[in-house]
Amino acid sequence: MPRKKKGKKLTTTESSVQHIPQVFTAKCAQCEIKQELQACDICDRAKCATCVNKHREEMKLSQRNAALKNKIDQLRQQTGE
Ligand SMILES: [Zn+2]
Ligand SMILES: [Zn+2]
Repeated sequence: MPRKKKGKKLTTTESSVQHIPQVFTAKCAQCEIKQELQACDICDRAKCATCVNKHREEMKLSQRNAALKNKIDQLRQQTGE
């Protein structure tokens, strides 16, 4: 097999760059600190990682609370009045 190129491997950063989520530096919609922002996957607003995580956690919590509430309601119905 003939060698195409001799020597150095060209390690382009292109392939790794594609995996990085799109970020840009601006004022966070929530905490108003200028830093790297990303789109919040809950509300779609441009937020910093901290606020995005916060919103995710809040979402998880409210979902869990809603699930708990449903369960309690179900139990209530089962026990009857
Ligand atoms: Zn923020
Ligand atoms: Zn959000």
